Amino acid sequence: MDNSFTLTGLILTSKNVGDYDKWVTILTRERGRVGAFVRGARRPKSQVIAAGSAMVYGAFTAYEGRDSVSITGCDISEHFSQIKNDIDLVWYASYFLEVADYYAREGLDESERLRLLYRSLLALGEESFTPEHVKMVYEYRTMVINGEAPNVFECMNCGNKELTHFSMNHRGTICSECAKELGGEVLTPAVLFAMQHMSTAAIEKLYSFVLKEGAFEELKSIILRYRHRYMDHTFNSERFLDN
Ligand SMILES: [Zn+2]
Repeated sequence: MDNSFTLTGLILTSKNVGDYDKWVTILTRERGRVGAFVRGARRPKSQVIAAGSAMVYGAFTAYEGRDSVSITGCDISEHFSQIKNDIDLVWYASYFLEVADYYAREGLDESERLRLLYRSLLALGEESFTPEHVKMVYEYRTMVINGEAPNVFECMNCGNKELTHFSMNHRGTICSECAKELGGEVLTPAVLFAMQHMSTAAIEKLYSFVLKEGAFEELKSIILRYRHRYMDHTFNSERFLDN
């Protein structure tokens, strides 16, 4: 019986096992997050050396053994070399990988998370975006995928669609009438638009907006405080980034 199959995805983590092997986790289109052995990945002439490195995207030939999955072949289509030539970008990318590795689940449909990670790593390497901008969008859309993002489409108190304020307590937008009673912070229209865009835009179009510096700082501050308040996990790699 042939137990071979193909996994399409991005290697999130890689560590040495034994003398010649690697153990990797892959964010895949087909099976969510998958852990697998890459046997012989550290032998000099191995055909699967690339499959043992974090931050590569491609198609992997996999074999299902009794207790574990093994990678027996790979066809890498993206190495993200723009990132790997710049140590600052490598820190950001490491953070993105850690976030995906933490939230992705085995056996679930993680295809949108995979597309988000792939697109965000490409965006990191593009000069039109600052790494801080890419980080902000990546974090926000990750919250959307996790079902933890704020509601920015109606007033959290009365359902009104004319939104002027953000309420940290209510995890979303509120209208000017409700703000008189509940408080909240004034939202610049561009910031509201950005949050709505990051909530619903197709991944391919996610990075198609820019913010002026003042609006960017406003949005960054909301997301940072929101994350600290509602997300209980801290990521090791984030300590190396400017916040
Ligand atoms: Zn209201």
